[in-house]
Amino acid sequence: MRTLVFNAGSSSLKFGLYDMGGAEVLRLKGGFDRFAEDGCDLKLTVDGTRHDSRAPHRDMAAAIAAVPGILASHGIDGINAIGHRIAHGGARFDKPALMDAPTLAAIEDLTPLAPLHNPANLAAVRLAQQIWPGLPQVGVFDTSFHMTAPAFSTTYAVPLLWREAGLRRFGFHGTSHKYVALRAAEVIGQPVERLQIVSCHLGNGASVCAINRGRSMDTSMGLTPLEGLVMGTRSGDVDPGAFGFLSRELGLDVAQIEAALYNDSGLKALTGSPDMRDAEDRAAAGDPAAQLAIEIYAYRARKYIGAYAAAMGGIDALVFTGGIGENSASMRRRICDGLEFMGVTLDIDRNQHVDLANRAAPELQAWGGRVRVIVTETQEQLQIARETAAALAVTRRARLVLPVAVSARHVHLCQADVEALFGPGATLSAEFPLRQPGNFAAHQKVTIEGPKGALHHVRVLGPTRSRTQIEVSRTDTFALGVEAPVRLSGDLDGTPKIRLIGPAGTVETDGLIIAARHIHMHPDDADRWGVSDKEEVEVRVTGTGRGMTFSGVIVRVQPNAFTEMHIDTDEANAAGISGGAEGALIAPEHGG
Ligand code: ADP
Repeated sequence: MRTLVFNAGSSSLKFGLYDMGGAEVLRLKGGFDRFAEDGCDLKLTVDGTRHDSRAPHRDMAAAIAAVPGILASHGIDGINAIGHRIAHGGARFDKPALMDAPTLAAIEDLTPLAPLHNPANLAAVRLAQQIWPGLPQVGVFDTSFHMTAPAFSTTYAVPLLWREAGLRRFGFHGTSHKYVALRAAEVIGQPVERLQIVSCHLGNGASVCAINRGRSMDTSMGLTPLEGLVMGTRSGDVDPGAFGFLSRELGLDVAQIEAALYNDSGLKALTGSPDMRDAEDRAAAGDPAAQLAIEIYAYRARKYIGAYAAAMGGIDALVFTGGIGENSASMRRRICDGLEFMGVTLDIDRNQHVDLANRAAPELQAWGGRVRVIVTETQEQLQIARETAAALAVTRRARLVLPVAVSARHVHLCQADVEALFGPGATLSAEFPLRQPGNFAAHQKVTIEGPKGALHHVRVLGPTRSRTQIEVSRTDTFALGVEAPVRLSGDLDGTPKIRLIGPAGTVETDGLIIAARHIHMHPDDADRWGVSDKEEVEVRVTGTGRGMTFSGVIVRVQPNAFTEMHIDTDEANAAGISGGAEGALIAPEHGG
């Protein structure tokens, strides 16, 4: 799926184009910046090569309108979907949403929570809908990932009336925290659901997130992106008593205080520049204000990391990302120094020599360090592309209902075994066709004999195959007295041996399996529903005595397949299915 992603800020527009198959290839990314009467800057990277220029566009509307031309001039067409970053989804959006009229109205209602960002995001959606009226557009919210946080971490201890008005903690940078947690899990080689991760997104805006077994449990930003860490121009945590104090002492009103906390605080207030590089240069040159700023910055981050390790009862990994997290070895070092007590120990050389090209995620912990310390470039646009593709698959899958067929025990034979069991020159003869084209139930039947007992009159299915395969249920394996692995059809190496008895002879053969539950799927259906060969999906079986959800159902895309799910008799009994049933695909939980 070819997905175009937009991230519209109040004064800039970033975009990226991804081919989302197994490989997730970034074809092109760009950004329009510094809009003015005489145009704007355009930074463009196509297939890894930079093409920076001045562009004539005065505002975001003109810039978005120019995107189809930019894509065409690089030979890119055939976009399937558009994903948009939306800053604030309030309590309402805990996952990506299709950008239909009611959803846009609901996002508009959230403007008081993100007065600068949501209107810019919405404007981009509306413009894109005019330019690509036929394409599905999905909004991915910066806040959604944190909607799993428990009430005790999202509730402020303030009057009920305020809470009823919507005052609560939301958190931001959710797309980034989610991406880096998934990337860290990939590096560690364990499912994110088994890991306790603290991620530090340290850019111009900055936040720390406690990701407890794949779910955000707490994050340092709150109702607004003002709470938490020291940032470029934002203060992070300040005693709310400051409002009264400043009002009384300096005569400042709420708007003035708020504006200063957003725009004139953080590194800018402490050093004169919002940029960490300036702070580090000045500190190195001996500027005590810059030195203090760096100490405050690191100390605040370290406190949050410790707090979140306590909140989760320990951590497996600490991940750094964002311009500062990715590039400043000295800031990573300052933040980690003193965390040895909880198993965080940096390797000095590894921390110093970090190469993040090609989405690398190097590990920086010292040898034997209990906590993995990982640094990686955040890929918010890629994560938006993933979630857009996943959200569209959900909507498509919501409409997918497929037949569920119960496979009784059966045998596939190779020609040599047909002749060994039924006599020289014997061939399989069809009694009735099966739904998978070309397949049939043969007249022939065999006995399967194991050390404990035998199963008689077991149907042979045709046509013959290159290898004999015996498919039984787990209950059958007890009747036979043999253990059998759960395998996909055809995956027979190392399977147990068993005896087959026919009217003309006996064979000892391997190939005994319990068939892994699977879906035979026609390529057109796979395309339509956005699933690929070998993908594991969940299927909710309905219309039976006992509704049931099967996970780990393997999709097998085959030319000419009749789309149908196959389960064995044990599975059918557990779900109360006799005869046939219907199943519905369920969407995956993670966008990628
Ligand atoms: P945004 O949040 O706007 O996406 P970035 O993630 O690009 O911002 O982060 C910008 C911050 O990263 C700035 O404070 C910048 O100084 C800092 N930064 C970038 N490169 C370095 C570096 N080599 N050393 C220290 N800080 C850096």
